Parts: sequence; structure tokens; C-alpha cells
Amino acid sequence: MEIIRDVQEMQRRCGDLRRQGKRIAFVPTMGYLHEGHLSLLREGRRQGDVLALSIFVNPIQFGAGEDFEAYPRDLERDCELARREGVDLVFNPKRDDLYPEGFATHVTVSGLTETLCGESRPGHFQGVTTVVCKLFNIIGPDVALFGRKDFQQLAVIQRMARDLDLAVEIRGMPIVREADGLAMSSRNVYLGPAERNQALALVDSLRLARRLVVSGARRAAAVLDAVEQRIRREPLAEIDYIRICHQETLQEMEEVTPDSVLLLAVRFGKTRLIDNHVLFEELNP
Ligand code: AMP
Repeated sequence: MEIIRDVQEMQRRCGDLRRQGKRIAFVPTMGYLHEGHLSLLREGRRQGDVLALSIFVNPIQFGAGEDFEAYPRDLERDCELARREGVDLVFNPKRDDLYPEGFATHVTVSGLTETLCGESRPGHFQGVTTVVCKLFNIIGPDVALFGRKDFQQLAVIQRMARDLDLAVEIRGMPIVREADGLAMSSRNVYLGPAERNQALALVDSLRLARRLVVSGARRAAAVLDAVEQRIRREPLAEIDYIRICHQETLQEMEEVTPDSVLLLAVRFGKTRLIDNHVLFEELNP
């Protein structure tokens, strides 16, 4: 496994591999790897001849007062986990190399980014699409893997890839959960014991919504009410949003259909958690 920090060197190395006819699979991350990231790497390993992983805590997707400085980092451990998953190339660029003095170009996807997480995190998705576009240009992947945990992010990146004719297949992967159901996230380490316990209300409310839909509920308002009541039982929970939206357009829906996704963002103390479920799909257990 090679660890590359230099942008030009990574671009050269990936260019050489592509000229040799190698298919490159790419998993972009901010590091502090957990089983969710590893599931993407395993699928990437199956998809590509070469598996590239980027580890970069991207400053431009954090707003003022967000957790850029505090974001957990452990490059050594990440590299050990990556090695075990058969990663070939780890790209760990320096901030100033990706964003040198005078950096002035951003990628903006309109429509999908102003809603949901974009409401409380203005500029966040522009930071994401800009860095992902740069990473795609450096690496030139044939396929890139993203988790459905960040449902809106996946929709935004799919839109960007289509709109900008990027020659990369974007693959969305299932949410990986802890044994008790909490969606894995690098930010879960911020949760104190009481917060961690109460955070189970998220997956619990998704399960409740799923049960309602299985038993015939189709009015989004009724499902949203039940979800809200469940989450409000937790004294530490502060709801950011609970919505039922169309999977591709992210427009709110009044009826639950096979295209509907239930999306949640809830704060527990200083930690903002997101989760979601496509209501016509099974949710185990
Ligand atoms: P991050 O390091 O948080 O930027 O995440 C990197 C990638 O891992 C993104 O595509 C995320 O959607 C994905 N990811 C994060 N958590 C999970 C999870 N619990 N299950 C599946 N994918 C995940």
C-alpha cells in the first residue's frame, strides 16, 4: 500500500495505472475509519483493479463554529485498517496543496443543496462537491463509492456527476449500523453516555415509520407525527428536521411511495446526527 500526500504525484500515479488499463475504484473519506467506511472499501475492492482511498478533513465543507478542529483524526490507525482491506493507494493531501493561495473556483449544485442539511449548514455541500470534483480530477476513478448514510450528499454528487458529464460511476452503499442500530459515524465519539443512549431514538423512529408504512400508512404527515413524538421522548434530542422526501429530487412528499425517503437530523448536545430510511425497503432487525 502506498501513502501519497503530493497532488501531482497522485495524479501521475493514477494516470499511469489508467494507461495500463487498470480500473480504479475510489472511496473518499475524512478518515477516522469505521465499519461504514470499510464496507465501501470492500465493495471498492470487488469493483476495481486498483483501490484508492482518500483521507482528508475538508476545511471548506465546515461552517464557522462547526467541528473542523475537533474532528477526530488517527491516520496511523486508518492506514492499518486500509491495509487490511487491500487498499492500494491512500491519498492524504495537505490542505495548502488542495487549496493554495488564491484558490477561487467552486462547484455548486443548485436545488438539491439548499434544503435539509443545507438549511442549517449553508455552504456545506458546495465544499463537498468542490473537493469531490477535485479528487475525481486527481484520481480519475472509474467508480466511486459513497454511503447512503449521507443520503443528501449522495444525491448531490450523483447530480453533479450527471450534470458535469463526469466519467465516473457513482455507487451508493447501504448504511452500516452498530449492533444496537445507531448508524455508524466518526462523530459518534462525541456522544456522552446519556446522549449515546438517547440517540437510539433515531433508528427506533425509522423502525416505527417502517412499521406504519408496512401496515398501510401512506399519509406522510401521519408518519412524520409519529416519528416526531418518538424523538421528542428523549430530553436531550433537539430536532433539526424530520422530512419525507423524494429520493432523487429531495422535494417533500405528501404521500409515501416507493420513491420516498424519511430523513432525520437531530442534535444531542453539540453533536448533530443524521439518519434516513427508504420507507418501502426493509429495515433490519
Ligand atoms: P465521511 O468520512 O464521514 O466523510 O464518510 C465517507 C464516506 O463513508 C461517505 O460516503 C459516507 O456516506 C460513508 N459512510 C459514513 N458512515 C457510514 C455508514 N454508517 N454506513 C455506510 N457508509 C457510511
